[in-house]
Amino acid sequence: MVSYRKAGIGGQPFPVQNRAPQEAFEQFEASALYCPRCRQAVPVRKRLLLVIPEGDKYEYLCVHCGASVGDKIEKNLAPAGIIPL
Ligand SMILES: [Zn+2]
Repeated sequence: MVSYRKAGIGGQPFPVQNRAPQEAFEQFEASALYCPRCRQAVPVRKRLLLVIPEGDKYEYLCVHCGASVGDKIEKNLAPAGIIPL
């Protein structure tokens, strides 16, 4: 058994780097967002809100109360040489 009690001089805890990897955080963010109504991170549904020249705008809805908890524009890169009528 190893004891580290003596290492913290003056009762100061070690600075612990306990952060999750960036990839894991992004994965979490994609599947759950903070809902102001439910006051917690909730699973979300992605819904196509509208199509604009910049791209498709999606809305994230709380699966519990249906509140909009965020949106995102996915850029629509039209292939060069093709002019939409
Ligand atoms: Zn909610």
